[in-house]
This record gives sequence, C-alpha cells and structure tokens, in this order.
Amino acid sequence: MASSILFRRELTKTTTTLLHRRVYARPFSEKNAQQRIDKILIANRGEIACRIARTAKRLGIRTVAVYSDADKDSLHVASSDEAFRIGPPPPRLSYLNASSIVDAALRSGAQAIHPGYGFLSESADFAQLCEDKGLTFIGPPASAIRDMGDKSASKRIMGAAGVPLVPGYHGDEQDIEKMKLEADKIGYPVLIKPTHGGGGKGMRIVHSPDEFAESFLAAQREAAASFGVNTILLEKYITRPRHIEVQIFGDKNGNVLHLYERDCSVQRRHQKIIEEAPAPSISTEFRAHLGQAAVSAAKAVNYYSAGTVEFIVDTVSDQFYFMEMNTRLQVEHPVTEMIVGQDLVEWQIHVANGEALPLSQSQVPISGHAFEARIYAENVPKGFLPATGVLHHYHVPVSSGVRVETGVKEGDTVSMHYDPMIAKLVVWGENRAAALVKLKDSLSKFQVAGLPTNVYFLLKLANHWAFENGNVETHFIDNYREDLFVDANNSVSAKEAYDAARLSASLVAACLIEKEHFIFARSAPGGSSLNPIWYGSPPFRVHHQAKRRVELEWDNEYDSGSSKTLKLTITYQPDGRYLIETEENGASVLEVKATYVKDHHFRVEADGVINDVSLAIYSKDQVRHIHIWQGSNHHYFREKLGLELSEDEESQHKPKFETSAHPHGTVVAPMAGLVVKVLTKNEARVEVGQPVLVLEAMKMEHIVKAPSSGFVHGLQVKVGEQVSDGSALFNVKDQ
Ligand code: ADP
Repeated sequence: MASSILFRRELTKTTTTLLHRRVYARPFSEKNAQQRIDKILIANRGEIACRIARTAKRLGIRTVAVYSDADKDSLHVASSDEAFRIGPPPPRLSYLNASSIVDAALRSGAQAIHPGYGFLSESADFAQLCEDKGLTFIGPPASAIRDMGDKSASKRIMGAAGVPLVPGYHGDEQDIEKMKLEADKIGYPVLIKPTHGGGGKGMRIVHSPDEFAESFLAAQREAAASFGVNTILLEKYITRPRHIEVQIFGDKNGNVLHLYERDCSVQRRHQKIIEEAPAPSISTEFRAHLGQAAVSAAKAVNYYSAGTVEFIVDTVSDQFYFMEMNTRLQVEHPVTEMIVGQDLVEWQIHVANGEALPLSQSQVPISGHAFEARIYAENVPKGFLPATGVLHHYHVPVSSGVRVETGVKEGDTVSMHYDPMIAKLVVWGENRAAALVKLKDSLSKFQVAGLPTNVYFLLKLANHWAFENGNVETHFIDNYREDLFVDANNSVSAKEAYDAARLSASLVAACLIEKEHFIFARSAPGGSSLNPIWYGSPPFRVHHQAKRRVELEWDNEYDSGSSKTLKLTITYQPDGRYLIETEENGASVLEVKATYVKDHHFRVEADGVINDVSLAIYSKDQVRHIHIWQGSNHHYFREKLGLELSEDEESQHKPKFETSAHPHGTVVAPMAGLVVKVLTKNEARVEVGQPVLVLEAMKMEHIVKAPSSGFVHGLQVKVGEQVSDGSALFNVKDQ
C-alpha cells in the first residue's frame, strides 16, 4: 500500500493530469472486486472525527479531515493525515455544506466519506450526492435514510413489518377535527410529535380533550418553524417509559444482525447523558424479542451499515414499542463495542467495501457491562444550559477498562457554534456493579477547569441508590430532583456543603503556599543546588511563624445563587505545617501539612488524615481561579490577585467580587448565543414570564422572559447578533 501511495503522489506532481484522471478518478463505485477504500474523508468534527480517524489509521487507511475556521487548530484536524478548510464557523456554512465537503473529498483523492453522527449523517440527499460523485458513503443506502427520516412513514413501514408500535395515529389527514377524533380514540394522555422532528423539539403532552386544540396548533407552528414541515403524529403517552435501543448491522448482501441493546433512559432535556449496555433488569427472553424486532425493522428497509432501532418500553405493562430508527452510528456506540469486543467503525468500513459481516448472529459475543457518561460544558443549576469557555485544565482518567473519547485538549475553547460535549467517558466491568465502581472512580478523576461542566452532576447520578439498583426510566432526573440538586434551603445539606468547602479551602491555602515555597526555593540563587535545608524534614521556611491571610470566594456547584467568602488565616509552624483558622461559624483551627509532588499534585495531611489532592489554577480578569480535587470531592474557588493584606489594610478592604456589573433589574444573557428572535420592543408593556427574546446556541433554544411585569427598556440586541454569557439584554421597569 505504501508504494502505491508514493506512486500516486509522484504522478500527481507531474503534468500527466490526463493519465491521472483516467487511472485514478474512476468512480470508486465502479471498482473491481479487489479494490478497497484506502483514503477516507471524515465529514465531521470533535470526538467522533478523532475516533473514526483512529480506527482508519489502525487499518492503514489514510484520513482527510475537514474544518471550519473555528476548528483549524483542533484535535480532529491534528488526528488526520490531511485537512481541508470547508468554510466559516456556522455549521450551515461548513459542516452542513455538502458541496464543499464533496469537493474536498474529490480534491483529496478520498474514495469514501464517513459522516459520523449529527451534521449530514442523516441527510439522504448527502448520501445520494456522494454516490452520484463516485464517492462511497460509509453508511446506509439513501433510500433507508429517507424512509426512516419521516416518523410517520417509518411507523407505517414498521407496522407493516410486524414491529410493535405505540398506539397512535400516523396518517396523512391532518385537519384538527380528524386529529382530535384520533386523540380521543387513543385515550389521554396523548403525545403530539412533529413527523420530521428531532431532539424532542415541538413535542407536547396533552392531558385532556379540552387542551388538545391549543397544543396541536402550537406544535404545528413550532414544527413548521423548526423543520419546515408542519405534519404531526399522535401517540399514546407512556407515563413511565424506558428508552432501550438495539444496535443493528447489515451488509450489502442482505445479512442483518443485532449487537444487543443499550439503555439510554437517563436523559435531561430529552437528551441522553448516561447510557449502558446491556440494559439492566430485563429478562433474556425480553432481550431476544427486542433483538428480533430490531432485525425485522432493519430488514424492512433493506438496511446496511450501522443503525439503531429505538424502542420505548412501558415499565407498567412491560410492552415495548418501536419509536424510531437512527440511520447512523450513535454517540453511545462505544458501550456496545465494550460488551461485544468489536470495532463498529471497522465494521462500517468493511461493509462499505462490499464485504460480508465478520460474524453471524450466533457468533456475536457478549461479556460484562459498560457505561457511557457524556461530559458536557453546561451549567447544571441554570437548567443544563450549554456553556462556553476555555479548557484551562483538562485531565482525564487513564485506567484499564476506561476509554475516553474526546475531541478537545487543554487550552481549547468550547465555542457556541457546536455541540457542547467535551468527552464521552466509557467504562467496562465484569458486571454492572463492577462497571459502576469504575464509572464513579473515573468521574471523580475527570478534571475540567475553566468552564462549568456536568461532571459532578453525573457523579451524583452514578451514586444514586435508584441508579445503582438499575431502576432507570426517562423521568429519572425529575423523579429524584431533590436528591440530585442541593437545596440551599435545606440546612443540613447546606451546612455539610459549607463544611466540606471550608476543609477544601484550607487545603488549597496550604498547597498554594507550599508551592510558592517550592518555586521560590528552585528559583533562588543557586537553583537546584540550593542548600538541602529547603527540602529537609522538618523543612526550613523563610516566613517561619509568620501569618498570612487568604480569602477565597466559594461557589456552590449546585446552587448558582450562593457564593460565600471564606476568610483563612494561616500561621506557619516551625516544622513546616500550617495552622489554618477559618473565621466563620466560630473560629476553627486545622493543622495541615502539604507536600508538593509534581505538576498539579500534592499530598496533604489534615487532622491525621493523609490524602492526594490535585489543584488547577488559572488567572482571568485579575482573579485567580482555583479548583481542588480530593477523592470524589471537588471545589472551585476564586481569589483576587495581589491579595496579601496587612491588618490595617484589611479594614478598608472592599468586597472583591461584584455579583453583577449591571444596574439592578437588568436581565442578562444566561448563556453565550445567537439572538434568533426579538419578540417585543422598547417601551412595550410585558407581563411577568412573557417571552422577550430567543437565544440559540449549540442546537438549543433558550427563551429569555420578563422577570416582572412592566415596560421594556434598553433592549438593543437584534436578530442575528451574538451575545456573550452575562451581557446585558434589557431591563423591565414599572413605567
Ligand atoms: P426526537 O426524535 O425528537 O428525539 P423521539 O421520538 O426520539 O423524539 O422521542 C424523544 C424522547 O421522548 C424519548 O427518548 C422518550 O423519552 C420520549 N417519548 C417519545 N415518545 C414517547 C411516548 N409515546 N410516550 C412517552 N414518552 C415518549
């Protein structure tokens, strides 16, 4: 293979363009039986592009990345052999720009395109365009994508193939009277769904006949605005459902098999955050029925490549029903790979080459249990709103049975243009309990600083007794809301949180000062040849018996409104220990010994307990941001730079952290995003809760509402404008 690549390179350098075209530009679809794909363009970004490139490399296949201007220095570009610019940051101008991507593939000499997930992966037109240009689309046939892209049509096909469907109406007749009649027949509660929807958008639960008309018309409007098609389908609303999906695979010879199921019930905003394989608490018989139904579904549309058949399982009746088929590789495919020991991207490439599936159904192995936790840049207390920012510190756990799929590196920016997923943490264990231990351990070692993430929320989920028992259903987060979010009014948990923060703050203070000494000792004249008293035991300290003050502002991870200043007085002891006093709740004194290990690691001893801790420190806007990880605890503090104060300066000390730079009552952007709608004007009267504008970021819309009734002032943002997190949007005043 190497020689053929060399040969090709030499040829293209010469002027024998004609020869080159005749020999090499022959459509790959006309290839002879021996020809195999040896160069793939990956039409995606982030972790999935990196993951596809990894398998391709292992198979000796060259990879071509595409990138928008925002991604030039990103990991997926670095992971590929070549990279082509395809446009500016907005996806519609780059990663959704089909002609630009196909053009890059043709220019690069790639014979095939892997679309990943999202973007163009489920565009039948894109799959067709690839084939028309002689490029192999590494995915299913365009016809299957088209059939499954329409929820109504797919349900009709599945119904005809004998796959169980949720009782509902999927017909063409869409007038409101007919729909209402069908809803009455199904029985309430009824779920209204746009036929071309995705991401839960436009879905509405209707509890009684008198709510029907209003919800139906609103769903139609939202569907038309979001998907360009306003057709609706009706389904019986399953009150206690689980989301279980089956991984299927087909080849071009008509063979189809399944690779067991995944449970993806734990969701927020209708989006999955923890997935597992196999599904917990189901019988072997139930598993076999799911698998058979999924294979029938795939066969009904002559499917090949990787696909997922999603079922909704009614936990009350133990019935399962077809929900939809995703005609691509899923985000959560690694949990399947972990239990069957296969590489699904490799299978996709074999199938694209026209080869048969490597295993038959009875040969598909299943071993152990796997979890995937999706690590997102998001603001959990703000209702899981996507967050943006710089990854100032990024350390992921490394251990056997742990796989981290990521598309970012330390120093990268999570921008508002794309999905805010930072990584997928995938773990495998011999059984569910063993895998869960690994999941918790890995989550506690997953260190991100610089932007808010859901890591600690995931840790809470993984530690919840109901999750441990495998009692998952789609309302899991709602059902256990009280356990999963710290309630600031709950004095027990608030006090516990405060005490833990105070301990962490003391450790931070000791570690910071210890590291200062270490750096001072290293940089002092004489450098590393310095007198060993600096490293002796007990070590010599210049500020022997001196006192220092440290003030750390603490944000409670789960309660965005609460932040507190922790005032610490540190007294150096002759033996190198620190006495740390915290003022609040009566002075408490803790004796801490901190030893600097390396990089950001320390070993600390407090009250006779010895622990490893890690610190991440970065400065922004004259403030030092400090994260500390200790066991499964994490705390985040801020410290104003140049703080060291003498006693008399202290009395003049002003509050360091302004809560807001804006006048009282100003409504600020809850996230960075694009203004997509402005629904009112300055001086217009609004009622409390009335939508004023709509922001969009990372595939998500957020409605900004009036915080009180009154008149709008200072509304200057316009549709199409980008706003940053925390920027002033408008004010509502009494007159
Ligand atoms: P989308 O394509 O918009 O994501 P889906 O049809 O996949 O929509 O449904 C998204 C989620 O909504 C499912 O994972 C499930 O949690 C819930 N859901 C879908 N259909 C029903 C139903 N009939 N009853 C109850 N919940 C449902």
